[in-house]
Amino acid sequence: MNYKDFITVVEDYPKKGIRFKDITTLMDNGEAYRQATNDIVAYAEKQGVDVIVGPEARGFIIGCPVAYALGVGFAPVRKEGKLPRETIKVEYDLEYGTSVLTLHQDAIRPGQRVLITDDLLATGGTIKATIELVEKLGGVVVGLAFLIELDYLNGRDKLDGYPIMSLMNYQ
Ligand code: 5GP
Repeated sequence: MNYKDFITVVEDYPKKGIRFKDITTLMDNGEAYRQATNDIVAYAEKQGVDVIVGPEARGFIIGCPVAYALGVGFAPVRKEGKLPRETIKVEYDLEYGTSVLTLHQDAIRPGQRVLITDDLLATGGTIKATIELVEKLGGVVVGLAFLIELDYLNGRDKLDGYPIMSLMNYQ
């Protein structure tokens, strides 16, 4: 299946000059969404995974069906103030300013093998912060899985050493 056939490239969203990759047209198609999920499930099985972690909101769309298929848990990474119990947090840089991501402090047990999922790897900032959260709790990041990787933003360079899989690459 050529997954790119299901991605809609939206010009000048959210601002001029950006070519936004809209994944909702892939999710709309039951076959494409299931096949993409199955590809990530196969990768997770190869890596050996105890728990899936994904940043809001699109990391949930990718990670939750994978967790369901594997029969493992899913731990959400959220913006500050959204998780109800005690959390750990990491501050990370955005294009303008900084943001904070949080994870429940009991979401991962030391030594658990973690797959991190998101829809898209751009500069890598979101995933780097997510890795930091997992490692703070003693989790072992055994893979990073994405639908899409934007090669020209070189996110991989920020994530060297971690195994990465992506179903589509854009140059
Ligand atoms: P990064 O932190 O790697 O620079 O940005 C990745 C985050 O931004 C991901 O969580 C992703 O959801 C969002 N993102 C950035 N650009 C796009 C895009 O073109 N399409 C989609 N679907 N998400 C994007």
